[in-house]
This record gives sequence, C-alpha cells and structure tokens, in this order.
Amino acid sequence: MIVARDVAEVREVVRRAARERIPLIARGAGSGLAGGAVATDGAIVLDLSGLDRILAIDPVDGTAHVEAGVITADLDRAAREHDLIFAPDPGSVGISTIGGNIATNAGGLRGAKYGVTRDAVLSVDVVLADGSLVRLGRPTIKGVTGYDLAGLIVGSEGTLGVVVGAVVRLLPRPRRVATASAFFATLEDAATAVAAVAVSGARPAVLEILDGATLAAIDDAQGTGLRARGDALLVAQTDGFGAEEEIAVVVEALSATASAVDWTADEAEADRLLAARRQALPAIERLGRPLIEDIAVPRSRLAEAIRRIRAVAAERDVPIFVFGHAGDGNLHPIIVADADEDGGIPEAAHRAADDIFALALELGGTVTAEHGVGRLKREWARRELGEPPVLLHRRIKDVFDPDGILNPGSGL
Ligand SMILES: Cc1cc2nc3c(=O)[nH]c(=O)nc-3n(C[C@H](O)[C@H](O)[C@H](O)COP(=O)(O)OP(=O)(O)OC[C@H]3O[C@@H](n4cnc5c(N)ncnc54)[C@H](O)[C@@H]3O)c2cc1C
Repeated sequence: MIVARDVAEVREVVRRAARERIPLIARGAGSGLAGGAVATDGAIVLDLSGLDRILAIDPVDGTAHVEAGVITADLDRAAREHDLIFAPDPGSVGISTIGGNIATNAGGLRGAKYGVTRDAVLSVDVVLADGSLVRLGRPTIKGVTGYDLAGLIVGSEGTLGVVVGAVVRLLPRPRRVATASAFFATLEDAATAVAAVAVSGARPAVLEILDGATLAAIDDAQGTGLRARGDALLVAQTDGFGAEEEIAVVVEALSATASAVDWTADEAEADRLLAARRQALPAIERLGRPLIEDIAVPRSRLAEAIRRIRAVAAERDVPIFVFGHAGDGNLHPIIVADADEDGGIPEAAHRAADDIFALALELGGTVTAEHGVGRLKREWARRELGEPPVLLHRRIKDVFDPDGILNPGSGL
C-alpha cells in the first residue's frame, strides 16, 4: 500500500502503474461494503486519505473545494461554520472519505430529500490511467457544455480514474428540524406507513426503517430499550422553516398503522435517535459473519419486498436483519451466519442473498442501491443491466483505461 500525500505523488504512482502495467486500486477509508478497495495479488493499493485538505468554502456560491481524502463529517462540520451543510451523510459519515463517497455515489440518511452524492458533485479532479490530471465538470450550479463526464466518474468505483479533488455543493443548514419516531407491531405495518408518508404531501429529509431484530441488536450493543416498544421502528425527520408543520403531516400518516408515535423538536434527542440508527450495522456485526446486502425497490413495493425477505429467511433458515433508507425504497437485508468449517460464509446465506437479489429485480428494483458493484456483485449487476448496457460500460472503460490497470476485477 502506498499512502499519497499530494496530487503529484498520486500522479507519480499512477504513471508507474501504467508503465509497468501494475493493477492500481484507489482507497479512501476502506469502509466500502462491496470489496472494491481490497488488495489483490500484485496490485498497488493507493491510499488517498492523506489528501485531506478543505481548500475553500464559498458561502455565496454554496460550494466547497476539497481534496479526496477529506472525511465526510469533517466537511459537514466545516460547512456548519458558514450555516451550510454537506447533505450526503452515509451511516459511515465519521470515517468515509469524499473521494470514496464520489467513487461509490454514496447515499445516506438525508437522501430522502437531498438525494445522493451525485446530486452534490459539481466537478471532479481526476488522475487518469496515464497519470494526466483533468478537471471534469464545472464549479457552477448550472452548465450543460458537453457530456456529463463528472457524472460518469461518480459511482465508477475507481475503475475510470483516481479522484484527487472535487467541488461539491453545500446547502443552507436548516434552521428548524423536527423528528418523529414511530413503533409498529409488524415490519409490514411500518412499510405501509412509508407508503402513507409518500403520498402525504410531506417530504421528510430522513425516513429510516429498522426491524425488530435490528432493534434488539442495537439494544444489546447500546443498552437502549427499543425492541420492547415494537417489532419495527420508523424515524422521520423534517427540516426547513416549516419543519414542525411538516412533521405533523408525517405523524398523521404514520399514525394509521403505528402502535405509538412521538415527535420532538429537540435536536439533542433527535441526534440520539439517529445515532442509534447509525449503530445498526456495527451492532449486527457483533453477532456473526454478516452478508451485507443493499437492494432498492420502488417505494410502492417496499411492503411486499419486506414480506418476501422474511419468507426467504424462513425458507433458507438463516437470520436476516432488515433496516434501511425506507424513503428511498433502499433496504439493507443483513444475513448473519456462523462461519462454515473453512471460516467462509455458509451456502445457505449465499442462497438467501441470491433469492433477495432475484426478488429486487422481480420487483423492478436494483441489486445495489448505494454500496456499488465492487468485487462482490459483478454477476448480479450484469444480470440487472443486460448485455447492451454492459457492453457500453466495457467500451467506456476501454476509453478511460485501455490497459485495464484501474481496479481490475471490480465493477462490471
Ligand atoms: C457502518 C457503515 C455504514 C455505512 N453506511 C452507508 C450508507 O448509509 N450509505 C452508503 O452509500 N454507504 C454506506 N457505507 C459504505 C461506505 O462507507 C461507502 O461506500 C463510502 O462511500 C466508502 O468511502 P471510503 O472512503 O471508505 O471508500 P473505500 O471503501 O476506500 O473505497 C470504496 C470504493 O471507492 C473507490 N475509491 C475510493 N476512493 C477513491 C478515489 N479517491 N478515487 C477513485 N476511487 C476511489 C475504491 O477503489 C472502492 O472501489 C457504510 C459503511 C459502514 C462501515
């Protein structure tokens, strides 16, 4: 592994990789969940975390110019000093890097209203496979000159170039925030409530779902008492000047199927609830070897998806924890299994994952909503896209990386 400290060092390493045809794997914080930043035999892993400067914040333009290794939460903290936010906030916000977020087009808790990383990226500075440095996109909010090459880099998982910097959008920090929590007797009731919120006219910034098993795991890890209150929890947050009026609409929608609904305008209490949500994955990881899945379905099919994931768990006889960004139809079914005799993931867990991917596609969804294809989902990603789009991907890859040195074995 080589830890780069500046753009010149990145360019030097890429030039060497190009000269000697050595595979090169860009790495931010290594928090990715698709195996995309994992070393392979003979490859150079290029760690970008040393490029960690916030170069400029311009409150009038609503932009920040950052290096790729800046930690996501650090940018949001810096934006706060100007009464702004960096909206993309993956559960891993405290460890992930902006470069990694761009490379995976990361989503987050606030995605229901603010979208994903793609919506926040204006331009990217990229070291191409021959070591040259280009700026793609532009720092203005609008601009349509040429193809959207910056957009192509977003979500390309280190297969088209190494992101060394970016100009990203910052948005006004909401002056008011209101947060509701609703407990449900069943997960299906919670999914039904998500549909009710979708047609309520409200647009919550956060709409997160957690099932009973996930609540129990968080209770064990954090000493909270969430599971005793229901078999599913929805956390909704509205923001902006009308936050309290809007949360009232959300609460009414949730109340149709919830067993209990509370709301608060107290930010510290809301932060505690969202912190518990962010602990979902680490809490489940304590319980065994997890297969972390990442499907999305149209919100109208969420209840059906959840019902059938439950059926998969019963049929394959494996525990499946479910939580996710319900406002985006994005579920994280986590299959937790004891390792088999060789220390690997047992066959039943893999079969359950295949069932879930097939289910996502049948319902008109995707096998990866935000974690990416990486090394883990190549086969299913190809199945999702079909042949002509996969061929287009390969031709684009050839243009950017004719010798195939950038993260080979990852992506399509
Ligand atoms: C507890 C937890 C919660 C999470 N919650 C979410 C969530 O809510 N939403 C979500 O989307 N993800 C989530 N993730 C996954 C992960 O944090 C994101 O994918 C994140 O964007 C990865 O950033 P990273 O800096 O760790 O990248 P890495 O893991 O280092 O790399 C990820 C991929 O990006 C490529 N890459 C990294 N940096 C660069 C660069 N500078 N240039 C080119 N390619 C690069 C790598 O080659 C690899 O393919 C979570 C992970 C954890 C552990």
